[in-house]
Amino acid sequence: MSDPCYPFPVDYFRRIGLLRRRLTRAGLPGLLVTHLPDLRYLSGFTGSSAALAVTRRAASLFTDGRYMTQAAEEVAAAKVRIVSGPPAVAAVEWLAAQPGLDAAGFDPAWTTVAELTRLRAALPSRLRRSFLTALAAPLVERLRQVKDEDELAVMREAALLGCKLFEHVLGIIRPGMAEIEVAAELEHRARLLGAEGMSFDTIVASGARSALPHGRATNSPLPTRGFLTLDFGVILRGYCSDMTRTVYLGKPKAGERNAYEAVFEAQEAGIAAVGPGASCGEVDEAARGVLRKAGLAETFSHSTGHGVGLEIHEPPRIGAGQTTRLLAGMVVTIEPGIYLAGKYGIRIEDMVAVTRSGGQVLTPAPKALIEL
Ligand code: ZN
Ligand code: ZN
Repeated sequence: MSDPCYPFPVDYFRRIGLLRRRLTRAGLPGLLVTHLPDLRYLSGFTGSSAALAVTRRAASLFTDGRYMTQAAEEVAAAKVRIVSGPPAVAAVEWLAAQPGLDAAGFDPAWTTVAELTRLRAALPSRLRRSFLTALAAPLVERLRQVKDEDELAVMREAALLGCKLFEHVLGIIRPGMAEIEVAAELEHRARLLGAEGMSFDTIVASGARSALPHGRATNSPLPTRGFLTLDFGVILRGYCSDMTRTVYLGKPKAGERNAYEAVFEAQEAGIAAVGPGASCGEVDEAARGVLRKAGLAETFSHSTGHGVGLEIHEPPRIGAGQTTRLLAGMVVTIEPGIYLAGKYGIRIEDMVAVTRSGGQVLTPAPKALIEL
């Protein structure tokens, strides 16, 4: 059975099949998956407590009694097993009991030392030292980086929902209203339009606060004149959207307009550099180079972007010197920004899907400077 929310059935069997190929290549007969977004990707399970065990022949999902009905509805590609203890412990015991299975990988990025100790203690003493093997490179995360058609369809929808929200708040923004009112209006509308929630705390940063790259909405009133940065995203069927627009309240001064144009140009250059085979460092440099020429390099204090999907921040990181190469199917953000402490900040962010020939912007909301 597929995730009931999807418009067409998601092929979880295919995803587990792809994982098995990677397992074989890594020389591992089994894998323990505990990171919930990985688990959801492979099985469709959306609950908050589970572990998945995959071997070359079988796959079992362990969860507790609260999720009995939900797991039966959501999961077809793995056998659901309801357990009373910690699901990861049950998964490791199951793996160790599989005939001929002498090792299973785990992702050290999502396993604490305490957790590993507990998992090892559950193994027969002869297996305690050697059975659980830390993956040298994450396997599921790598698969998740390249989105399949099912995922791209949902992400396109999530991104367009973000654009609708931007359009909606443009109509209500007035000097004097609190940043929090803008955020609340945006989030309220998001739920009405079908979002399951926001993918992170909505950023509404006005005036000098726009110089804070992560300025969460506060009670500050919007000024009669100054920049206003909105950075927000929704979760739709598990997938995150992420976009930023900076608008101007009142009439910008020439210097402010020039600064905006420089960020806009940098962002477009970053998007133009997106394509299969381009390295993340090259994409970062395309955007950063424009700001350097404008004398603003020092004020661009973060990386150009990040991967997005079931999590709001996923690999790859679009940052200086990053050698990872983009592949068709990846979805990344391009979000250069400048921050002048005590004065203002400007950031523009789009989600871009890597296609076979370049990049496709998923968030086509207007970017020419809007004056309100
Ligand atoms: Zn963002
Ligand atoms: Zn972002």
